[in-house]
Amino acid sequence: MTTVNTAQEAIDSVANQAILAALQQTFAVGGAIINTSTGEVIAALHNNVLMPFPGSSTPYFLPHDPTAHGERQLVDWYYENAAALNLPPPYELTVVTTLDPCAMCAGSLLTAGFNVAVSAIDDYAGVNYNSQFTFPSLTPQIRSQAQKTWAYYAILAPVNRPYQGSMNPVFGGQSIDSAAYFLTGSIFSASVNTVRAASNNSGLDPSQLKNPATLPANSPVRKALTTLSPCALTVQSANPRDPGAELAPPLLKTAKQSQVFNAVALIDPFGNLLACLGGVENRSPIRTAFMETTRGYAVLRWTLMNDPDPAVRAQAEQYLTHPKYGTFVFLYAPDPTTPQALMTLGAYGSTMEGPVPQSYPSNLQYVLLPGNTTPQALSQLAQNLPPFYTQSVQVAPAQVLSQELINAVRKGV
Ligand SMILES: [Zn+2]
Repeated sequence: MTTVNTAQEAIDSVANQAILAALQQTFAVGGAIINTSTGEVIAALHNNVLMPFPGSSTPYFLPHDPTAHGERQLVDWYYENAAALNLPPPYELTVVTTLDPCAMCAGSLLTAGFNVAVSAIDDYAGVNYNSQFTFPSLTPQIRSQAQKTWAYYAILAPVNRPYQGSMNPVFGGQSIDSAAYFLTGSIFSASVNTVRAASNNSGLDPSQLKNPATLPANSPVRKALTTLSPCALTVQSANPRDPGAELAPPLLKTAKQSQVFNAVALIDPFGNLLACLGGVENRSPIRTAFMETTRGYAVLRWTLMNDPDPAVRAQAEQYLTHPKYGTFVFLYAPDPTTPQALMTLGAYGSTMEGPVPQSYPSNLQYVLLPGNTTPQALSQLAQNLPPFYTQSVQVAPAQVLSQELINAVRKGV
């Protein structure tokens, strides 16, 4: 276990992770969990959105996991290891990162309650995109939490950026040199457009896609889908953007078996239910139903498309495409007053990584709203997201159109 003694050493250490990410040809961002009082580096990770398949002769750089940003992975790593390693609580730790966290990572970090210290700004997808430390994407209570626990290190000449934020993160009040700042900013800038395009453009257009419902029981694609989600391919909606009451049983059944009563379905361009998963919040509070569904599908597709058998790779490519052509349907929409909602809308943005075709009806739908939430409050949260989410992805959660589906789910909850 290494220990760092200054903000400079901390940023130099996470910059090395960003370099490893750049060499992997994914988003060049790195981060670490550091003990705020001792400087001990507890875990260091980098982005793994794109990942070559080990051992494959022709590795695809497909989206392996659109949620595998450094900070989000560190939060899950913490909860997987906290008990066994007897780790201090998140408020005694700092996540140090090369780049301002995106909406998904900001929501993850705020859910867990880590302190956060940052080098470079991301003026497109970062939660401090305006560099003002006003966090326009956060609701007032969550904004106040961020302002008490987050900081942006000062940058020495010639950049001359003043220290911004709380003194609570590790090495609060300290500076880093301009070289580290330029490295962390420019290495991300050099990666972002190609990785985003590779993520958004992977997968066949629905006009060229084959229907997985026609596959026999022993086909690799059907077997993998059924293993991920037992209700896969058991239901087909006539219009993939307008699911009806047929979706109520799998949503309700999955929610009843989950830690938190919720489930998220992914429907493909033929209207097939590809996966319907609940959260595993007992393992990590950020492993919600949406996170499990989008990650589960992406990893399944990446694994099949990198199979050593060319026939399996071909079948995956012909039958499974990018989720931007399908529809995500939540049993319950996220509660917009919680940081998990920011995380969820951010993770949806990271899953799309760019424009979504046929955006009406939205491919981000919910059956019911939780508690006293209004559709306006959820829309407001989406509209306040950083520019990437409002301008490129155009995140717009909407209630399903089918009153029969709403009634059927209401009867079951
Ligand atoms: Zn992120």
